[in-house]
Amino acid sequence: MNAFANALTQLKKAIQLGGLSAETWEFLSKPQRIINHSLPVRMDDGSLRMFESYRVQYNNACGPYKGGIRFHPKVDLSEVKALAFWMSIKCAVVGIPMGGGKGGVVVDPKKLSVTELERLSRAYAAMFAPYIGPDKDVPAPDVYTTPQIMAWMMDEYNKVTGTEAPGMITGKPLAVGGSQGRGTATAQGGFYVLSEVVKKLKLVLGKTTVAIQGFGNAGSVMAGLVQKAGYKVVAVSDSSAGIYNPKGLVLKEVEKYKQSTGKLTGFPGAQTITNEKLLELPVDVLVPAALENQITEKNVGRIKAKVVLELANGPTTPEADEKLFKKGIVLVPDVLANAGGVTVSYFEWVQNLANYYWTEKEVFQKLERIIVDSFNEVWQMAQSKKTDLRTAAFIVAVGRISEAMRARSWIN
Ligand code: GLU
Repeated sequence: MNAFANALTQLKKAIQLGGLSAETWEFLSKPQRIINHSLPVRMDDGSLRMFESYRVQYNNACGPYKGGIRFHPKVDLSEVKALAFWMSIKCAVVGIPMGGGKGGVVVDPKKLSVTELERLSRAYAAMFAPYIGPDKDVPAPDVYTTPQIMAWMMDEYNKVTGTEAPGMITGKPLAVGGSQGRGTATAQGGFYVLSEVVKKLKLVLGKTTVAIQGFGNAGSVMAGLVQKAGYKVVAVSDSSAGIYNPKGLVLKEVEKYKQSTGKLTGFPGAQTITNEKLLELPVDVLVPAALENQITEKNVGRIKAKVVLELANGPTTPEADEKLFKKGIVLVPDVLANAGGVTVSYFEWVQNLANYYWTEKEVFQKLERIIVDSFNEVWQMAQSKKTDLRTAAFIVAVGRISEAMRARSWIN
């Protein structure tokens, strides 16, 4: 499945339904720039390995390119282009003054030592230094990249450019210019969105069951937040498998188990299920928080949730989207549901440029306002165009980007 082709299908639908111009389509159907480097890394055993890597700078009409860097063995150019495009849409949905970009390295970071990981991260920052920077393109974490990796990249960038520019990257540790709240921001934003959906659909909190696919930064934090708020988390999964207990999982125990064994499989007090099965459970809320193309034409008929909240990027294909909408399942799209991450990244960048730092309370107050306002704007657009929330979010976002492009006379 080609992620970028899916992304363009979503764009086309929004352009048609939103009555947006042909030049908007022409401009936005291609990235502005693709940079590709082979990164040489000296391994611990003395051997040399080359790692394929990318940065796609999709659109900067609204501000500097913004978006994470993914370290994953399955990274390819089509995926990075799609993710960079979605970042452009995401920033515009929440109305922050940034464009969209994304990076990727073809690597399984679990197979590298810490020192190899550091050399790879530094190589990326050094090779891409001419193209990135606080006023050009601001990377951040994504799948399998961490605050530590951001710190190495910032350090290397500052060395090779002879600057002290913490705002060249976000998602850093607090000690080197990170923002309060950034670590949990993606899930926190998703939680604010879910609270709004629950109000709209009048779901009863104590009775609302949740299944979460993916136990990484977004998924595991989300599990904790919803459980604290009174939802019942019945299933979670990682890349190896999932666990399910219809009576609810004790998350503290799950986390302890995952930390000591490195996986979820075999957790006592729950049945082990496959990742595919998790998606088809009879729950109220399904949260895909892992990778692309999880809900497809093949399994969409078996999805039983009332709400699908996309914490991952691109988990649902356009064919599945249409079927979910017809079945009356409310899908909150990635570009809104997981926009909390990039919104607090934007806050981090603002704080770095001002060299003045906010409290966690200030960060989350500002985040909640932006997310709730954006949700309501998208919800209203969906009502007025009688369409799904993804198409509505795209209409709002593409409208903003095309206004910026018109103001710059990039399009007529
Ligand atoms: N990787 C995250 C995303 O897909 C965060 C990007 C950022 O903070 O720039 O939204």
